[in-house]
Amino acid sequence: MFESLSERLESAFKQIKGEGRITELNIAATVKDIRRALIDADVNFKIAKEFTDTVKEKALGQKVLTAVSPGQLMVKVVKDELASLMGGVESELNAKGSPAIILVAGLQGSGKTTFSGKLANYLKGRKGLSPLLVADDIYRPAAIEQLKVLGSQIGVDVYSEPENKDAVEIARNAIKEARSKNKNVVIIDTAGRLAIDEAMMKEVAAIKGAVNPGEILFVVDSMTGQDAVNTAKAFNDRLDFTGVVLTKLDGDTRGGAALSIKYTVNKPIKFISSGEKMDTLDVFYPDRMAQRILGMGDITTLVEKAQEQFDEAEAKKLEKKIRKNQFDFEDFKQQLEQIKKMGNLKDLMGMIPGVGKAMKDIDISDDAFKGIEAIINSMTPFERNNPDVIDQSRRRRLAKGCGKDIGEINAFLKQFEQMKQMMKMMHKMPGVASRPKARH
Ligand code: GDP
Repeated sequence: MFESLSERLESAFKQIKGEGRITELNIAATVKDIRRALIDADVNFKIAKEFTDTVKEKALGQKVLTAVSPGQLMVKVVKDELASLMGGVESELNAKGSPAIILVAGLQGSGKTTFSGKLANYLKGRKGLSPLLVADDIYRPAAIEQLKVLGSQIGVDVYSEPENKDAVEIARNAIKEARSKNKNVVIIDTAGRLAIDEAMMKEVAAIKGAVNPGEILFVVDSMTGQDAVNTAKAFNDRLDFTGVVLTKLDGDTRGGAALSIKYTVNKPIKFISSGEKMDTLDVFYPDRMAQRILGMGDITTLVEKAQEQFDEAEAKKLEKKIRKNQFDFEDFKQQLEQIKKMGNLKDLMGMIPGVGKAMKDIDISDDAFKGIEAIINSMTPFERNNPDVIDQSRRRRLAKGCGKDIGEINAFLKQFEQMKQMMKMMHKMPGVASRPKARH
């Protein structure tokens, strides 16, 4: 995510490394480079200039403590300003009302329908709500079908009226349906056009007027950079939306949209969406995003993702097994499954400070565990539960079973043994095991 911007900022900071203190003179080149980096990331010139003016002013105003180098101080100032540019603190979704009504708007292809599905999945799974999805696109029957497919994937009902050509009436009827079926949140996926047009704006505005949504989310493809910002402005002028959703952050996004939207429309980014799978939706935290842009990683999100997947009781059981040196291949396989559920592997690794940059050019696909899984799958249940019984003849059979050579099997078994020892040691260290659950 935003790799090029991260790199450019990092090299900007290098300019000031080694300086004893921050002066107007020695900060000039760094500030100029930061501004260029932002503009090249598709941040509008005015915003980039204002940003660097503030950074300069704040950096010059700071006392450089002996323990902190001017370079570190600059990183801190830039991080704080980036976070503030993106909204400062996170903005919660308003899911109040009975039912709560969320209107989803944006151009066709922005990722509206995919997001609607993800949001329903999020509200159902993480908030324990009972959502109803509404396919309120009267122009494209395929859009209704698409939402129905997503709905069935995540187990959420989808309301549609394929014969009705009145989008306002469909929305009203959907809310009645939600009440009668005890659904407490209604997500209305509206029609989008390829470009902003008056009829589309009128229709969404009419739906808004009729159902009075507590939340109007504007969905925008973050890969479209400045266009995204201009579209946001046009939608906001007509709809006065309550929040922005940035999609396709898994793509080759330079960062312009994420950095400029809040400034331009003064509405918070509420969610970021990064993939086509239904569980790739994240609440947007400006400070964490700023940290990621500056290559500081995002351990908080990583820990939260882990907590969502790992059941506490299961974790306790596992901990006991590790302590008794009974961690086996079945446990290992389950752990791999859970890690895979946390999301794209490269994204996850990128949340570890310093690792994102190092992995920039390394291709880590979601298939990274395939080799290991193939070996474990070739084991009998008895072997999985008793790693010690895997002698030479069993190793030969495993190699045949998964199409690897015996050297690979030996190496894997050796690594597993080392990992087991390491885990046992870590669990003996005070404060490592049984960490209390962090607050969400
Ligand atoms: P809509 O026309 O606004 O409803 O957009 P869709 O939800 O149909 O999405 C348009 C295309 O973008 C589809 O092919 C989606 O699978 C894809 N898409 C949506 N969200 C994301 C995302 O976050 N990342 C990626 N890579 N693709 C996405």
